[in-house]
Amino acid sequence: MSDIGALKPGTILGEAAKPPFAVLPDPCLLFLNRARRFAALAPNHELGPYLTFLSVLTGAQYAIQTDLPAPALPPFDRIGQALEHGMPPISRTVYEPDQTAVDTLERLLTRLEVAEVPPESTAAIQALLAGLQVHFARMASLLQASDLRPIANGACPVCGSLPVSSVVVGWPKAYNTRFCTCSLCGTMWNAVRIACLLCDSTDGISFRSVEDKPDTVKAETCDKCRGYVKILYQVKDPALDPLVDDVATLGLDMLMAEEGWKRGGQNPFLLGY
Ligand SMILES: [Zn+2]
Ligand SMILES: [Zn+2]
Repeated sequence: MSDIGALKPGTILGEAAKPPFAVLPDPCLLFLNRARRFAALAPNHELGPYLTFLSVLTGAQYAIQTDLPAPALPPFDRIGQALEHGMPPISRTVYEPDQTAVDTLERLLTRLEVAEVPPESTAAIQALLAGLQVHFARMASLLQASDLRPIANGACPVCGSLPVSSVVVGWPKAYNTRFCTCSLCGTMWNAVRIACLLCDSTDGISFRSVEDKPDTVKAETCDKCRGYVKILYQVKDPALDPLVDDVATLGLDMLMAEEGWKRGGQNPFLLGY
């Protein structure tokens, strides 16, 4: 009898997937990769001019980090207490911007030359959120991934924000497992493969895609809360980016809206959807 006979049905030969719980962002690479992906998708895309604009904006998120002072984390004991009680250590809901956060935002506004636009305009709000993304990614990168604990399937273990989307990754040690990407700090966390990221339901989950488009981006819908969050299959297309390809597949959101589904993923570049 060979050893193979002892394997249970469905066992994968070779190294089993052992996904890390969380992967912290590299704040430079995060925004540089987004800028490159936006630029790569823009030509011949129906949203071409907008994707080009976002390539410039995410490029600015990358570029302004040169010689910015290191961000300050909340006090060490406060981080410890939060982790102990299952709370996000850099919670966005209680965060108060310090001077470095303000400097980060000002640099972004200056670089984008949007300082003069009305503060309530979409462009100003996007720039503000983009500045916060940079600051939170830089703070998150100073934590230890091994300290982080799950908060909820659909909540970032660093800052408590909702995900942009989720991704089925092709990483060698986590092949075919699912990770959410935080809409604010860019941290990725391992999520239950088929469960609503908005209400945690594991019943009534379905997947939808646009008929004549590649099925590498789908909407994971939930009958219980009538919401959906996109799921991207990097296992099939490694170039997919959780934030960029969310914007680039706006057609899927329009289809879902027509059918009465509520968008659950948070994306500062899709305000109003
Ligand atoms: Zn986060
Ligand atoms: Zn749900």
